[in-house]
Amino acid sequence: MDNIVTIQNVSIDYPLRKYSLRAVTNLSMDIKRGKITALVGESGSGKTTPSSSLIRCISEPGVVSEGKIIFHEQTEDGVRDICVNDLSSKEINEFRWTKISMVFQAAQSALNPVMTIRQQLYETMVEHGSKLTKKEMEERCIELLGYVQLNPDLVLDAYPHELSGGMKQRVMIAFALLLDPQLVILDEPTTALDVITQSYIFNLLKKINEEKKISMLLMTHDISVVARFADYIGVMYGGRLMEYGSVEEVFEKRRHPYTEGLIGATPSIIGDISGMHPIEGSPPNLLHMPTGCVFHPRCQYCNELCKTEEPAAYVTESGCSSKCHLRRE
Ligand code: SF4
Repeated sequence: MDNIVTIQNVSIDYPLRKYSLRAVTNLSMDIKRGKITALVGESGSGKTTPSSSLIRCISEPGVVSEGKIIFHEQTEDGVRDICVNDLSSKEINEFRWTKISMVFQAAQSALNPVMTIRQQLYETMVEHGSKLTKKEMEERCIELLGYVQLNPDLVLDAYPHELSGGMKQRVMIAFALLLDPQLVILDEPTTALDVITQSYIFNLLKKINEEKKISMLLMTHDISVVARFADYIGVMYGGRLMEYGSVEEVFEKRRHPYTEGLIGATPSIIGDISGMHPIEGSPPNLLHMPTGCVFHPRCQYCNELCKTEEPAAYVTESGCSSKCHLRRE
């Protein structure tokens, strides 16, 4: 299958005064064109940092210290490769929103409280190089607000505090679509929303993915959302990609014990919850990472080899990968 992004051996460091903190280690992963790929894991597992690196928006002082991020742009003449690491400041500013855009976590804080939605939409278009006239910008905003099922007459000249949480999140989705990107990154897009609004937002995102053929990279800790909406899944732990593959195969095979733990810890609202087991222990401290397999202190299958040697990725014929000494079949 065609990839829209290739992440090659990427490591991301946060240089601190006395030492450097490695938040992502040797990440290699493909994001499939036209599909929804989800990155899952507990808080602090390393989902947001690599996703932000696709548009060079890692929070300071984080840097991509190793590896490459290649965006495969679909043009009328075929596919053109863009190395995100090599773009100048001017080029990355034009690249953001026109090639890859992002829906940030917590729309409440992402929107400017003292500007109307119209002012913010216009500003985003101008800042990222749009050459549209004012009239064309207005038409674009009306079209997009309608597409995300908001009434432009009510929303366009409103301030963020006049909108509900679900409306603000839909405005953020309209922002992300403004300049026709080929990939949208969604960072926990339904945090702080009630379950009915969450479901509504995810149905809307699925519709955008299918109708506009926009690829999506979704970060979430909610594995049930992944089962319903994603096509591919990457399971992150301790800044490493532990397992990757199609949602069907990863959920069915559960090759990695951490994936098995995440699925086993998810409650069912209709089934028996007595078989639900939380994963014992806590995620690792990035300053004091365990030796060997970083999951070994919490793994029920841990053996002596796991404590000393980090497993390499094992890739199956179907393209799934898993980093575990034991679970290879
Ligand atoms: Fe568990 Fe060992 Fe596999 Fe790590 S390598 S997940 S500790 S069995």
